[in-house]
Amino acid sequence: MSAWRRARLVRRQEQSRTGRTLLFDVPQWPGHLAGQHVDVRLSADDGYQAIRSYSLAAPTEGDGIELGVQTVPGGEVSPYLARDLPVGADVEVRGPLGGWFVWRPEQRESVLLVAGGCGIVPLMAMIRAHRLERSTAPMRLVYSVRDPAQVWYRDELAGGAAGATVPRIVYTRRAPPGSSRPPGHISAHDLQTPEEAGASPALCFVCGPTGFVEHAAEVLTGIGHDPSRIRTERFG
Ligand SMILES: Cc1cc2nc3c(=O)[nH]c(=O)nc-3n(C[C@H](O)[C@H](O)[C@H](O)COP(=O)(O)OP(=O)(O)OC[C@H]3O[C@@H](n4cnc5c(N)ncnc54)[C@H](O)[C@@H]3O)c2cc1C
Repeated sequence: MSAWRRARLVRRQEQSRTGRTLLFDVPQWPGHLAGQHVDVRLSADDGYQAIRSYSLAAPTEGDGIELGVQTVPGGEVSPYLARDLPVGADVEVRGPLGGWFVWRPEQRESVLLVAGGCGIVPLMAMIRAHRLERSTAPMRLVYSVRDPAQVWYRDELAGGAAGATVPRIVYTRRAPPGSSRPPGHISAHDLQTPEEAGASPALCFVCGPTGFVEHAAEVLTGIGHDPSRIRTERFG
């Protein structure tokens, strides 16, 4: 297991009413792959410690790492990180962790990214790595949120970050005015374009709350994806 390192908060950015991205400086950060995560450790003066996992939101860039934290009401760690940790303060991080839920730039196969809520975080790292490496591998994002105010990385996604493909945003509770799709859970129609029917199935990365991940994986297998090619990460 890798050692704990000091991580200093250098910037916090609002992504939604309850979601923030946090940029930390971690001296001598060893680098990481898109999709990996870190453990974050908070220590109180009385010695009490709390550890939680957070995904890395961007490819390696020097000693900076970006995390995305969604406040869980009543949660011990997420409200503190998202709202209260002062810029300039330190936490500890351990990682990078995880070797299965990763996308490597040398991968040439089609990729389907399926995010629920803050499950966008590790998938955003894949989208950014894909763009940075000028990968020509097809990569498509389907992103499920409750309503338009919950969309993280709005401008970056609108700018065509996911290769040449415009991300499909699926609203579960309230869609923007004029939307042709009524609000509802992600469906086969959302996960498969007409052009993809019959094509060799993509490698799928699905991330979000457990209920979302299980539903999305079931829909994917229902439209012919091989379960062994569906990689999942559950946030809680
Ligand atoms: C590999 C991995 C990567 C993760 N990456 C991210 C990430 O990028 N961004 C992020 O915001 N979170 C991420 N998480 C979830 C994160 O580790 C914490 O579980 C989350 O922030 C809640 O911690 P907490 O201390 O605030 O809540 P806790 O005090 O641990 O829990 C409070 C209550 O909320 C429930 N709960 C816990 N987590 C969730 C949840 N995610 N949704 C709904 N209810 C919950 C608990 O069952 C409990 O009842 C990741 C988890 C894993 C395992």
